[in-house]
Amino acid sequence: MNKRLAIAVAIDSKNRVWKGAFRTAPWYMIFDQRGEPTEKRRNAYADESKRHQPPALFTEILPECSVFITRHMEDESQHRLVKKLSVMPVITEIEDPLQAVQAYLGKGKSLVYGPVPSRRLGQSLGVDPIPFKTCNYNCVYCQLGRTKPLSHERRDFYPPERILAQVRVALDSHEPGEIDYVTFVGQGEPTLCASLGSLIREIKNMTDIRMAVITNGSLLYRADVRDELAIADVVMPTLDAADQKTFRRINRSWPKLRITEIIEGMIAFRKMFNGQLWIEVMLVKGLNDDEKTLLGVRDALSRIRPDRIHINVPIRPPAEAWVEVPDDETVERATAILGEAAEIVAPYEGSFDLSDSVGIVDAVEAIICRHPMRERRLVETLSKFAPGDVSATLAKLESSGRARRRIYRGETFWEYAGGTFGATTRKAPHDV
Ligand code: SF4
Repeated sequence: MNKRLAIAVAIDSKNRVWKGAFRTAPWYMIFDQRGEPTEKRRNAYADESKRHQPPALFTEILPECSVFITRHMEDESQHRLVKKLSVMPVITEIEDPLQAVQAYLGKGKSLVYGPVPSRRLGQSLGVDPIPFKTCNYNCVYCQLGRTKPLSHERRDFYPPERILAQVRVALDSHEPGEIDYVTFVGQGEPTLCASLGSLIREIKNMTDIRMAVITNGSLLYRADVRDELAIADVVMPTLDAADQKTFRRINRSWPKLRITEIIEGMIAFRKMFNGQLWIEVMLVKGLNDDEKTLLGVRDALSRIRPDRIHINVPIRPPAEAWVEVPDDETVERATAILGEAAEIVAPYEGSFDLSDSVGIVDAVEAIICRHPMRERRLVETLSKFAPGDVSATLAKLESSGRARRRIYRGETFWEYAGGTFGATTRKAPHDV
């Protein structure tokens, strides 16, 4: 087996996924990167005789493993595994080790969805090459909740052939003209998928439909990522700040990321990229909507030279409850300032394609696991079902812990319950 690609699952004596501290698990089950079990290994450090000589490093116990699945781990241990050892901790609620590995690998999970209406891309077939909330940013406005822990290493989370097979099925089941774009979007940062470039190339061999990548742009400082994205038709990075302090406060990135390097990466990418470069700026009240910050962003945008700028505000429930939408006057002023760098484009809303959804529960989950949605719009979108059935399904999903209701700016939203959101009490932005 390829070194450092195995998946370890901590288990107890009854073969259930372990709930205690990882190094006291009596056994570890090892799976290969395809999810096949290869070995059950006793943990010597769990025995009485060695309990007082714990391993210095996780890799002393499981040297070939890059993913570790368990049912409990403190935040600090998770961060240490990622930062110091490049091991991805996966906290699961599933008791059965094989099922937990299959869930991690996305077996049975749809990695392709839609087409769904995209504000900027019309009807977009989404391709999701990374697990829920895998990101090197922890944006205060993220509609998927907080990133726990941050990930910065590029890797293949799912076998690329599984992603390609699902794209092929989705393309075959739609008529020409029903899909405007095939879009790598992900429930996190898609450039963290190591095979992104080859996936884009393979999909281009399958179809003439244009391809887009929605990214936070943080890895554009890397030449390999620039080369991979250069074969797409539209690349849509984010730029919320041009100074390190504001960048840290709003995007709360992987610690070593520098916004100046990211901006230089965007400039270098623009020089080599013949497609459309559309940059999104998310405005958060009190964080990046003041004139000085906006002038800095404008200057960076003037150097990057995108084809379009899309100004956005946090209209869906954000990761942090204190996040606020700037008032109309501030948004207008931002539009005037940033509009000096490139054309500003208005949003778009279309209809959701739910043809892949088997029943109402599938249909609701297919929508809210991508982003929170207003209850009103959810009922409209699911108009093929009776409104009473939609409400009953939402109540059922809420009581089973799979969906959550949130009131945001006076409206009821429904969101996926897997995300971690901040307390609803207000906290000043400078506490971030
Ligand atoms: S908004 Fe995007 S870049 Fe920011 S934390 Fe969420 S997924 Fe990551």
